Amino acid sequence: MLPALDWPLALAILLVCALAVGLIFWRRRRAANLSPQAPTESAQADRSWHHIPTEAVLAALETAEQGLSSEDARRRLDHYRPNSLPEAKPRSALERFLSQFSNILIYVLLAAGVVTTLLQHWLDASVIFGVVIINAAIGFVQEGKAEDALRAIRGMLSPHAMAWRDGRLLTLDAADLVPGDLVQLQSGDKIPADLRLLRVKGLQIEEAALTGESVPIDKAVAALPRETALADRLCMAYSGTLVTHGQGAGIVVATGASTEIGRISALVAGVEQLTTPLLRQMAQFGTWLTIAILALASVTFAFGVLVRDYLASEMFLAAVGLAVAAIPEGLPAIMTITLAIGVRRMAGRNAIIRRLPAVETLGTVGVICSDKTGTLTRNEMTVRHVVTADRDLTFSGAGYDPHGAIYCDGKTCSPLEDGVLSEALQAALLCNDATLELANDEWRVHGDPMEGALVVAGIKAGLDPETLAKAFPRSDLIPFESEHKFMATLHHDHSGAAAIFVKGAPEAILDMCGHQRSQAQLTAIDPDFWLRRMEALAAEGQRVLAIAAKSLDMQPMELNFEDLEEGLVLVALVGLIDPPRTEAIAAVEACTRAGIRVKMITGDHAATARAIAGQVGLRNSDRVLTGRDLDALDEDGLEQQVADVDVYARVTPEHKLRLVRSLQERGQVVAMTGDGVNDAPALKRADVGVAMGINGTEAAKEAAEMVLADDNFASIANAVEEGRTVYDNLKKAILFILPTNGGEALVVLGAILLGFHEFPLTPVQILWVNMITAVTLALALAFEPPEPGVMNRSPRNAREPVLTPLFLWRIGYVSIILMAGTFGLFLWELAQDASIEAARTVAVNTLVMFEIFYLFNSRYISAPVLSREGLLGNPYVLLAVGLLLLFQLGFTYLSPLQALFGTAAIDPLVWVRIVLVASTVLFIVEAEKAATRWLKRSREQLA
Ligand code: ATP
Repeated sequence: MLPALDWPLALAILLVCALAVGLIFWRRRRAANLSPQAPTESAQADRSWHHIPTEAVLAALETAEQGLSSEDARRRLDHYRPNSLPEAKPRSALERFLSQFSNILIYVLLAAGVVTTLLQHWLDASVIFGVVIINAAIGFVQEGKAEDALRAIRGMLSPHAMAWRDGRLLTLDAADLVPGDLVQLQSGDKIPADLRLLRVKGLQIEEAALTGESVPIDKAVAALPRETALADRLCMAYSGTLVTHGQGAGIVVATGASTEIGRISALVAGVEQLTTPLLRQMAQFGTWLTIAILALASVTFAFGVLVRDYLASEMFLAAVGLAVAAIPEGLPAIMTITLAIGVRRMAGRNAIIRRLPAVETLGTVGVICSDKTGTLTRNEMTVRHVVTADRDLTFSGAGYDPHGAIYCDGKTCSPLEDGVLSEALQAALLCNDATLELANDEWRVHGDPMEGALVVAGIKAGLDPETLAKAFPRSDLIPFESEHKFMATLHHDHSGAAAIFVKGAPEAILDMCGHQRSQAQLTAIDPDFWLRRMEALAAEGQRVLAIAAKSLDMQPMELNFEDLEEGLVLVALVGLIDPPRTEAIAAVEACTRAGIRVKMITGDHAATARAIAGQVGLRNSDRVLTGRDLDALDEDGLEQQVADVDVYARVTPEHKLRLVRSLQERGQVVAMTGDGVNDAPALKRADVGVAMGINGTEAAKEAAEMVLADDNFASIANAVEEGRTVYDNLKKAILFILPTNGGEALVVLGAILLGFHEFPLTPVQILWVNMITAVTLALALAFEPPEPGVMNRSPRNAREPVLTPLFLWRIGYVSIILMAGTFGLFLWELAQDASIEAARTVAVNTLVMFEIFYLFNSRYISAPVLSREGLLGNPYVLLAVGLLLLFQLGFTYLSPLQALFGTAAIDPLVWVRIVLVASTVLFIVEAEKAATRWLKRSREQLA
């Protein structure tokens, strides 16, 4: 018989090889189709906006220097398509279906199917092929759902743009921009469309996305020769590139697919692979497992034929049965869907995952470095105090409603009657880019919330921002950057007088001022007075700004840093409150319980930082290191301090990078939040970079692994909880599926070793069990909610392998229990003179019943499940069990299925026996868990 097997085997191997080569070839071709193409010559040739002077651009696009009216913009949007890039073409359904076959497990099954066909075991062969197709169909549907979930999440990250409509600066969806719109740019913005620049102030743009050049380019407004190459068109800003410094404004000249980046279609968001390190590790494990199983099956085949005198064909089927039993066909699909469900659940809790491996890393995070403003606090700023050399002004009210009482030195007053207060409030309004809008009965700020609070204070005092801006038009500015910590503007009134207004961090401003304004006169500055007042405000947790001014005799049209070196007069200090978020306080506490250290890293003053840290409950809130302290420390010194100190103030983005590095040197897994363009390096360096969805720049979002839809610290804590849960659920899937395969394989192996000619399980029955339990039971585990104690344990060690000794031990002994019970009842039935079909039906049902009981064990890896919550807590588990029981009844009692699977009806009493035997696994595993917990506790006590 053996020689007769040679040619079918050879054919099968050939077929598998051809399939593998075909798939590899097809994948390569797909990859090649996806790779980026260079911009074409013609794409560069017919675009000459850079060649046209700004006035002509405005005329050509029928727009004005104040931008479009909303009416005109709406009309244009109907005419042009929305400003979004066409989505990368998703894989076609056929491609996705075919890709399900590119898996070594499936090759083995296909080979088995071919050989079984050649052996003319039609039924077995058709069931094997049927299972391969069902498996592909399941994978196809699940992967489709996972891809849809990811696509929906990506949609949540749609970009915004600041544009002028009806003469007002508004935040718009970037998709709503139309040619002719006037767009405002500031550092950190991703350019939302192709723009012809009208104004620039220190504007630098990094155009790597388009030209590959990562050094930022200084932009200008002058028109350039027509033939200027794309990379040298200084007066243009191209969609998809990033503002790294400065400010600017430009007119939209092309949107969506007509932009330069839109033309390089292949650059559009490549599809991210649905995988993570754990999934890759498991895929590799799957490959090795398959090879080991094939080797085992071959040895068994040889053993059966040579030692036990089985017929080769009979033994071949047995070896196929063994391979099919041991290979966890459903595992890859279950793991992918578990991951996708986790990512969707995180998005539901405001944590949008941009890179999938972050899901796993989140579970190992030991330190979270968080910004203060907006993350731990609400970022709803309100001006509370304005302090001048002689007066102290207090504002009532909260939020952005510009109504509220004002008290001077404790009594109600009109601040505009006081010359110095009036100057301070006017300077705060003029040196400001924010606008206030009443929309749907709600006051909204467009722009920086702190600047918005200054606008609100000005209006409360009786100023009108628009009238003021018309009376003192701005000619130039030095935009705020966190390196220099101030903003300055240059204004002229209609009589020709000019003035500079500056606002910023008090230390920065004090250094620049020689004098201070008081009611009576200009006096030499008294730094002690101001520092004392500043400390007092900051100690209450207020953010403090200083306001300075300088009158000019001449009329310069440009403002430079040198203009601020002399003659600045300090006018006032402004104290703003920004209360901590209540959820953040609870989340900091949850993190502490979960063994995660929270550190606050802020650009704000040390005293403010200390006060807020105390309010949110940071552990070590009294010790504060400032940026200057950090500069004085060498790497070793920093490493020592970084473990204890939880509050860092007046830090720059470079300090953030140093802190992340130092923490990582100490072996910590670090999550770091950031919002500005300069935070990008620290976000990239952190193990999990977290960007702010509302107040974060696009540059920060691009660098981050995760984006917070609500900017809230509590969402990071939630994401950690979900991250831990996803990892738990992946492990639970492994822990559940592998013993099923182990048990089945042991049954077949045992039968061969004992010389049985009638096996307890046939290959098709094994396939039935594997498929049906993977779709029902294992899938239910993907929906497991977080375990009750998930945030009470320390972070997982990133280096810990998935298959720990405890895991291997449980997989091993549960496999043996499953084998013993299944084999035992099979033998029992035979001993009672049952037919082989009936005995096999009992064996299959016992195995399935074992799995049902073991599923409950698997809900918690080490916690007990013998409780109401443990047994009934996951409705999907109950649904899956119900469904599976229905399947098993069909499998046992429906004649078409009996014919297909070789089963027979069994007595109701037999079910009682099956349930009794199968339930043992529930109690044994629970006993093992209890013993393990006890051992762990004793070990901890001893330590
Ligand atoms: P965090 O978000 O961590 O609390 P931050 O990111 O707000 O800090 P920076 O933006 O670097 O910190 O601001 C540092 C300091 O610069 C502030 O404390 C404030 O004094 C000043 N500042 C912030 N924004 C402006 C602005 N728009 N104009 C002038 N000064 C500003």
